[in-house]
Amino acid sequence: MRHSLALPALCVSLCGCLCLCAAAAGCAHLATAQLARLSPGSEPDGLPDRAELATGQLVIHADFPLSEKHRMVRDLESLRLDVSQELGLPVSDEPIHLYLFQSPARYESFVASRFPAFPTRRAFFLQTDTTLSVFAPWQDRIAEDLRHETTHGYVHAVVPTVPLWLDEGISEYFELPRGEHGRHEDHIAQLAGRLLEGTWRIDLLRLESLQSAGELTQDHYAEAWLWVHWMLHSSPARRKVLQDYLADLRRDGQTAPLSVRLTHLDGPQVECEEKVRAHLSSLAPL
Ligand SMILES: [Zn+2]
Repeated sequence: MRHSLALPALCVSLCGCLCLCAAAAGCAHLATAQLARLSPGSEPDGLPDRAELATGQLVIHADFPLSEKHRMVRDLESLRLDVSQELGLPVSDEPIHLYLFQSPARYESFVASRFPAFPTRRAFFLQTDTTLSVFAPWQDRIAEDLRHETTHGYVHAVVPTVPLWLDEGISEYFELPRGEHGRHEDHIAQLAGRLLEGTWRIDLLRLESLQSAGELTQDHYAEAWLWVHWMLHSSPARRKVLQDYLADLRRDGQTAPLSVRLTHLDGPQVECEEKVRAHLSSLAPL
């Protein structure tokens, strides 16, 4: 979750050839024609092109020199295998272009110029028919933002169409530093607090009904993370349900949803949701 900066973190997925995911809450739509103007350039509002670094699946374009030995770069490389192994997905060689701006002001100028209809966001992921790209400014939460957005890239490189809620749940899971094993303290605290208030309940069908990022609230991001954490950490059988689902999505974007698959393993929806609630309680005793 992202809340320390003036620019909130949001994620947006669009249907068809274009997927846009940014770090925060809200919605944006880009016309495909706008992509034609995304050519590198040295103008003040152009793409970063002063330094380029290719490492693993990543091609990093930056306003400044960046060593492949930089801890953040190594971290993003490691993320590729982590995502693959945790989700049971193959790795891809499809390049993911990371555009790193020297400052939020430079990034905001770029977004305003190239995506004038797009509300300002802290970072975003863009998928077209031919490219996977991440855009982000250098700031104090750059590592978290890049882990989140690059996770979208690693996943979309092999599963181009992922349900919005799951796409975000997976990226929220992997945005955390490796040593935290997907335990998202901000989400745990938020959901536990909402349960105590009685102002929120677990509801996978509601998550699955979400069609645009503009509908996503912080509760949705947090709940999406919770379902992913539950499937990956509660039992090998549930982990396999998630992995099988993603494998099937690679072949058929219309395959049976996770809610149906989980009921085969865990019983009716209400029982599934009670088990997820218990999982949350085990993380933050209520
Ligand atoms: Zn996202």
